[in-house]
Amino acid sequence: MITGSGSPPVTYLDHASTSPVRPEVAEAMAPFAGARFGNASGAHRMARDARRALEDARETVAEALGAEPAEVVFTSGGTEADNLAVFGVLGAAVERGDRSPTAVCSAVEHPAVLQPCRAAAKGWAAVAGVPVVAVREVGVDADCAVDLHALEAALDPSVALVSVMLANNEVGTVQPLAEVVARVRRLAPGAAVHTDAVQAPAYLDVAEAAAGADLITVSAHKLGGPKGSGALVVREGTALRPVLHGGGHERERRSGTHDVAGAVGLAAALDRAARTRDAESARVAALRDRLADGLLGALDGVVESVDRRRALPGHCHLRFAGVEQEELLVLLDDAGVCASAAAACASGALEPSHVLGAMGVGPADARSAVRFTLGHTTTADEVDRALAVVPGAVARLRP
Ligand code: PLP
Repeated sequence: MITGSGSPPVTYLDHASTSPVRPEVAEAMAPFAGARFGNASGAHRMARDARRALEDARETVAEALGAEPAEVVFTSGGTEADNLAVFGVLGAAVERGDRSPTAVCSAVEHPAVLQPCRAAAKGWAAVAGVPVVAVREVGVDADCAVDLHALEAALDPSVALVSVMLANNEVGTVQPLAEVVARVRRLAPGAAVHTDAVQAPAYLDVAEAAAGADLITVSAHKLGGPKGSGALVVREGTALRPVLHGGGHERERRSGTHDVAGAVGLAAALDRAARTRDAESARVAALRDRLADGLLGALDGVVESVDRRRALPGHCHLRFAGVEQEELLVLLDDAGVCASAAAACASGALEPSHVLGAMGVGPADARSAVRFTLGHTTTADEVDRALAVVPGAVARLRP
């Protein structure tokens, strides 16, 4: 059980938002936040020590993601990696002489993909070398899986980038990435395929699931690593224009002094995830089923947003008819249960869910949705505590 700063004890069911740092990850990082502080780009012994740790981390990350070490670009997290993929690929297309490249993405991408695409479409990215981009957003089915027919219709040889996430952060749906890649290779042979795999590595073997992708985003803090550390895999031969210019770090793909502790943390978290993935997937899925079935049995008017067999094991996304999500989340928080709704923006306010909208869920229904996400610290006791709290809170809010 997690103990927060106040009472009651915290039942933390918001792992898709962020997960607690695993003790072994913190331990691996500690020396680099202290005595081993060298700048990995330097030449003296302190620098060489940091460089060694960075390159060891790179090897581990590469192995976990099915990449070569030289294909790993360390970033400040998932958002930066997604931005680098979008602007980097489109910018490279422009450099090759394509004056108006087309980007295709699913309508349920994280804002870290959607917003760069939309910004590029508005010409805001001119500074990054992308004049005007045509963006095609592809819809999803009622379970949030990308519509492959609509994808086919969006693909043609003008497409430079296709971005489809490996698993959705809100409802947890795992996307048919191999099928996406096959269609892109056939219909848009010049396009690079990017997948945002941020939610996946705790439960999916990304090396296998994203084997066909040209670019892969990961972020450490979703799997027991530190916030502010991530990576973009850029497969050999994929043209990428840098977004951050400076000292030419990361083989000219991302300038900036390395966060060695962050890279070590990402590597340790991915390594740990790989070792525990199968057992954790089964353990967490069983707990998720207990939570979902318990709530479905205890209350009328509860709907699962997606078929859980198509979702990550830790996701339990439910809609409680007649309830406003914001009010329910406050009552749950008062009782020590941390859950969330649609993606919270930086202010913490709830925004209407573009994901549920794309799935065909009406606005009122979407406002009744709550996302419980379980993870590596979740216990049966926590699930039972949520089962003891949620039905009463929902009943209080219903007329
Ligand atoms: N992509 C997805 C699918 C996410 O869930 C998140 C985090 O919420 C991000 C990207 C952004 O990652 P970061 O928080 O490391 O910037």
